[in-house]
Parts: sequence; structure tokens; C-alpha cells
Amino acid sequence: MEERVDLTGSLENDTIAAIASSTGRAGIGIIRLSGPEAFAITSRIFRPADGKAYHPSMHRKLRYGWILDGDKPLDEVLVSYMEAPHTYTAEDVCEINSHGGYLALSRILKLVLEEGCRLAGPGEFTRRAFLNGRIDLSQAEAVDDIISAKTQAQQDQALYQLSGQLSKNLHGFRERMLTLLSKVEYAINFMEDAQEDYPEEEILSEGWALAEDLQRLLAQGQRGRMIRQGLATAIVGRPNVGKSSLLNALLKEERAIVTDIPGTTRDAIEENYQLDGLLLRLIDTAGIRESQDQVEKIGVDISRKHLEDADLVLLVLDGSQDLQAEDQELLDRVDAKKTILLLNKSDLGLSPRLQASIQAYCQAREGLFAYQISAKQKQGLDLLNQAISDKVFGKEGRQDILQISNIRHITLLEEATKALEEGLDALRKGVSLDAIEVDLRLAYRKLGEITGETIEEDVLNKIFSSFCVGK
Ligand code: GDP
Repeated sequence: MEERVDLTGSLENDTIAAIASSTGRAGIGIIRLSGPEAFAITSRIFRPADGKAYHPSMHRKLRYGWILDGDKPLDEVLVSYMEAPHTYTAEDVCEINSHGGYLALSRILKLVLEEGCRLAGPGEFTRRAFLNGRIDLSQAEAVDDIISAKTQAQQDQALYQLSGQLSKNLHGFRERMLTLLSKVEYAINFMEDAQEDYPEEEILSEGWALAEDLQRLLAQGQRGRMIRQGLATAIVGRPNVGKSSLLNALLKEERAIVTDIPGTTRDAIEENYQLDGLLLRLIDTAGIRESQDQVEKIGVDISRKHLEDADLVLLVLDGSQDLQAEDQELLDRVDAKKTILLLNKSDLGLSPRLQASIQAYCQAREGLFAYQISAKQKQGLDLLNQAISDKVFGKEGRQDILQISNIRHITLLEEATKALEEGLDALRKGVSLDAIEVDLRLAYRKLGEITGETIEEDVLNKIFSSFCVGK
């Protein structure tokens, strides 16, 4: 029943090499070789400093010596040899630790290529680790995520994925799906002919329990994706309430132009902001209001769109003034789940009427809170940061590890869940068992695509092509 796609045909068993470290100015650099000839090729160009031959018994030990081009010393190095299968790629691996910098590294690389290595393609070492069964596809993707991580939260997430915990959970789901499938197949093959009853209730209850578990994992995907990609955070408010000043205060620099002529921030400005290991993509929108002015109209449309699309909305009001019609228009559009209200200009004192309306407004909406700040005096920003963190991580707090964050994984999980639910719905409505089997098979395959148990070669190529060479 396992629909494993045979990838062994694509297994290359030549020896590959690449610069595994950055080629910029650095103390050391690493050239990595992987494949059956890794040791032989390295031993031909490496002379240990003690004058003894480089011998495979030096497995897992570092040896000090020189890389020679003929008789000419190219660099002073430390060389390690790791014997298959307990290596990164599960093949024989040699790593040459040379001096850093482009020249030292590229001359050694050129030498190993002349000695018979092939230059590795993007992600080819990790691809081999996957094809050789040391890690699954979601773990291989985590390697790239770790390298690309810009915040601590992103890195934590990638490390969790690399540890194989997600794979283990997915594997459990697939097992349950398989049990379900075999029950359906059994019913198709034996029970229909024999006019026996098949265990419809059992299939339905197990199926819905599984669908619920998949939905629970999927629910984490939304927050997982936000942490991974950064939260699109829109700063909205009518003109002159202090949006640009807030952006500047958060970024601690004069990025947006602050003026007291309403409507000057016409294009949305986007800046990255790191908060407590979380990446926010701050978008300062133009003041939302009806306008005859064409340019401003465009800005206003952009703001409305951001308000809808943003993961997080900081709605700024001028706390020193009463609510105006434009404020109200924005408040009417607020999605409490993703919004924080800011009463700016606290240094000017709080308007009692505004305070009363906002209090009533928040009480009527669960999870919505208003904070007093002064963007100009940089007051109340710590509380704001805390409020953002609470909003994103929820009651569970930071400790809650979000298992799934990769868009490819989330999409496949959605497709699997949908197929399973459709199959179960059809079963309940008395559709033929063959039709349900098709849905369950699809769900089973989609789950397998996350870990790479069922995957097409071109999908695989696409995934690894985004990796860097040497990884
Ligand atoms: P935007 O149109 O919403 O982006 O508003 P700006 O950031 O351009 O600010 C409009 C005016 O309000 C400027 O004159 C700012 O100096 C002023 N302003 C912004 N924040 C504060 C604040 O916290 N207190 C006071 N007193 N003035 C502020």
C-alpha cells in the first residue's frame, strides 16, 4: 500500500566537493568532499606534517599538515575524515579546514576537482543525506531554514523541525491513515460481496478523530508561518495621529518623514523590526480617509488593504482629542484578534470622552486592549512591545513550540485534511466505498510528501535548488 516513489535511480555515487563555508574574509574556511573517493582524493593532495602517510585509520581524527599542488604547498590545513555511514551525507566525508578567504579556498577546491571530484550542486550534500535515508525531507528543509534564520524564534522553529519531532508526529498520522485505508479496502474486497455490514461507525469515528488532530496541527501553522516569514504589521490611523512618529520611535531612527501637514506619508513604508526574537515587518500606511486627491486616494486604498491583509494591526488614535468620524470608520473595521489600539500623544493628556468610548469599545470585544503611548516622548513602548508579544504567542507564551511553519508543509497538510474530511463526509452520505478510498489515498500521499516518503523528483529538485552550494 505504501506509495513510495523510487528515488534510488537518482542516487549519484560520484564524489562531490564544494566550499562549505562563506568565501568572505575569515579565519578559517572548509572544503567538504562526499562520496566513495573522498578519502582517496584527499590523501593524494594532503601531506600530514609528521611526514607519515594519511591513512584511513585516521577516521574521525583531525590531522594537521599541508595541501600540496604537486610539490608546491597551497595551504596549511587541518583535515578530517569521517567514514560512512555515520556522517552528514551518510557517505564517506572529508573536510579540509584551510585558511579563510576566497583565494585559499578556491585554489584547494580547484585541486580536488582536478583530482576527480564533481562540483556539488545547491544543497547536494543535504539532498544526499535525504536520499540515503539519514534525514527526511522536512528535516532537510530545516537545514536551510537554520541557515536563513534571522530571529531566534525562526531558528528555534527550524531546530525543532530538524530534531525530527515533526516527522515523528506526521509519521503517526500516516500510520493512522493507513489503518483507516486498510479497513476501507477490507470492506471493499470482502464485505460488499458477502453482503456483510462493514464497520462504518468505526471508520467514521477514527477518521474524524484523525481529522481533528490534523486540524489542531494546522491551527499552529498560521502562527508558525508568521514567525517564519515575519509578521506583516500595519500601523494605521487617520492623518496626523503620529503613525510615522511611532515607526521612528520603534526603529529608533528617523526613517519615515514626520510632518504636521495631514496626509504626507503617502506610500507605505516597510521596515524590519526585531522584538524579543520575533520579526515584525512594520508597514506605515497613509492616513485612511476619503479624499479627492488622486495620489492620496491611492495611499488610502493601500491602507485599507493592509488593514485587511496584515497579521497584526497597530491602530493609532490621537489620545488627546475626541474620536473623529475617520477614527470611527477604522474602529468599525477592526478585527479584535489581530489589533492593538494605541492612544498616542499621552504627553498632551487623555481626552475623557475618548477614554470613555474606547473603554466601552474594548469591553465589547474580547482580547482587544488599548495602550497609552507617546511616540514623541518614547513613552509606553515597553508595554507596547509586551502587548505585541502576548498577542502573537497567546496565553501559552513563548514556550509553545510551533511545529509547522513551512508553506509547503502547511499546504500539503491542508490538502490532506481536506481530502480526509471529504472522504468521511461522503462515507456518511453513503457514497460508494471506492470513491472514499480515493480520498483517503490522496490524503495519505499528501502527508507523505511533507516528509518526502512520497515525492516527485521535480518537486525535490525545486526544494534543493533554493539551498546554497556547499550545504
Ligand atoms: P502621521 O500622519 O500619523 O504619520 O503623524 P506624524 O507621525 O507625522 O505626526 C504628526 C504630528 O504629531 C507631528 O507634528 C508629530 O510631532 C506629532 N506627534 C506625534 N506623536 C506625538 C506625541 O506622542 N506627542 C505629541 N505631543 N505630538 C506627537
